[in-house]
Amino acid sequence: MNSDISITNCLPVEDMALSAVPSLSYITITGDTITDIGPMEAYHAGRDRTTLDAHGQLALPGLVNAHSHAAMTLFRGLADDLDLSTWLHTYIFPAEAQWVSEEMVYWCSKLAAAEMVLGGITTVADGYFFEHAAAKAFAEVGMRSVAAQALVDFPVPGVPDPTKGLTTCAEFISTWKDKNPLITPALFAHSPYTCSPKNLVKAKQLANDAGVPLFIHLAETQYEIEIIPSPLGETPTRHLLETGILDANTVCVHCVWCTPADLDILAENNCSIVICPQSHAKLASGMAPLRAMLDRNIRVGLGTDGSASNNSLDIFREMDFCAKVQKMVCNDAVAVPAREILSCATDGGSTALLPSMHIGRLAPGQKADILLADIHRPHLQPFYTTDTMVYSGDPADVQTVLINGNIVVRDRVLQTCDLAEVMAKVRELAQHVGNQ
Ligand SMILES: [Zn+2]
Repeated sequence: MNSDISITNCLPVEDMALSAVPSLSYITITGDTITDIGPMEAYHAGRDRTTLDAHGQLALPGLVNAHSHAAMTLFRGLADDLDLSTWLHTYIFPAEAQWVSEEMVYWCSKLAAAEMVLGGITTVADGYFFEHAAAKAFAEVGMRSVAAQALVDFPVPGVPDPTKGLTTCAEFISTWKDKNPLITPALFAHSPYTCSPKNLVKAKQLANDAGVPLFIHLAETQYEIEIIPSPLGETPTRHLLETGILDANTVCVHCVWCTPADLDILAENNCSIVICPQSHAKLASGMAPLRAMLDRNIRVGLGTDGSASNNSLDIFREMDFCAKVQKMVCNDAVAVPAREILSCATDGGSTALLPSMHIGRLAPGQKADILLADIHRPHLQPFYTTDTMVYSGDPADVQTVLINGNIVVRDRVLQTCDLAEVMAKVRELAQHVGNQ
């Protein structure tokens, strides 16, 4: 576990102001927490400390993937170029019914965790079936996660009797609550169209009693607006408001089709939002109104969604795409500047998930979730500001990753599990899927 670490000769992100000459710095970590940051001239090597010489690499806070279904790595590339309804009902739901098992979730989540940490993602918010197997995989890889057991009204893998859905969620939460510093259990009520109001109320009660977040997909497609029970012609957001599940502990995912009045409701009720721009684009769902969300001071995170609808778990690509698409839809080149996008993928994203995680910034008192990126690569030169990481950064730039004070990736090698074994297991599982 943790030995105290000093990172030396790095360029911490706070130092990378526009046009400033960056100075080499140190970061000291005690246990799981950043304790000091300062210029190298002031550095004194302490005894019993591991020194990690960054050789001039950029130190960034670990990235936050605020929404994913990690185990869906098994379905990456299985059903591309389809609209969400066809994709979900004709391909994904049947494939999940046939292929999702405890073993599948464990190995495929482990592959996802490996892909993410190698790309500088230190925290993921995940929601799926057999989530205990996903949580186990994240913990073994050494990745921080908000892991949420899925809830819907119909039979699903691991919960053949839907009346047992809430019990399964409650058992999952009590199994993981305060058990592992990396794992925060949560509840993922799939959507307003797959969960009855009665179930949503009970799910909210369970989540609030346990003090854990409730995630829900909301207003992802135009189709959802048409099918939601709406005797008064209301929107899915109003439906959730009337159901009584909107509060500071509710994380609404997507919100592509939220109206300005819907966003007012989410802001007034202090809800968080997570958007997944590449998934929205690939399924032609639409584009979430990020500027309007930020203008209302809503906490917004950035997510990849599952790798069946993206198809990668790459927050660098997500940031770049998000920034550019917002410019396009707003017809405004300064619609959402790179700094705000980077915040959605770091401190803003973590606050959207759970304000008490103390991650997303490089500062004393924050958890030591840090990535070191080699900025001396052709596509990152010259390097004027950290905005370069938003528009030109790539997972392969990430050399070393620390999570909770532990070195999880060093010199691009995953330290915590046998990656070749994980990939072999997933290929073995995929053989059966591909033969259908
Ligand atoms: Zn999702």
